[in-house]
Amino acid sequence: MIRDAVTCDRDDCMALYLERDDMPEGVEFEDDIAARGWVSRPAVLAVPGRDDADVLGHTCPACVAGRGPVLELGECPTCTGRTVDLPDGSTCHYCGTVTPYPPDDLG
Ligand SMILES: [Zn+2]
Ligand SMILES: [Zn+2]
Repeated sequence: MIRDAVTCDRDDCMALYLERDDMPEGVEFEDDIAARGWVSRPAVLAVPGRDDADVLGHTCPACVAGRGPVLELGECPTCTGRTVDLPDGSTCHYCGTVTPYPPDDLG
């Protein structure tokens, strides 16, 4: 399949989100990224002077929250930013997504 991806429009921001393998049936990619905190808007709104309103621009959740740009890539499932290990899980340094650790007792 052809996998959709979004990147952040902000200069110097390396945030990236790839379409999931387990995308639920009927969910549009734009809805999926919106649920993750990405903001989509026509370029005409994003970039003054642009009139190509059919071109979508995207801003990553880290930049939306004022914590961007994402400068170091890592394991974050939302923005691919660098994560740090905190008690609650692997936490994105940029957008704040927390990925809980897998349970120890897998066996
Ligand atoms: Zn960004
Ligand atoms: Zn992140």
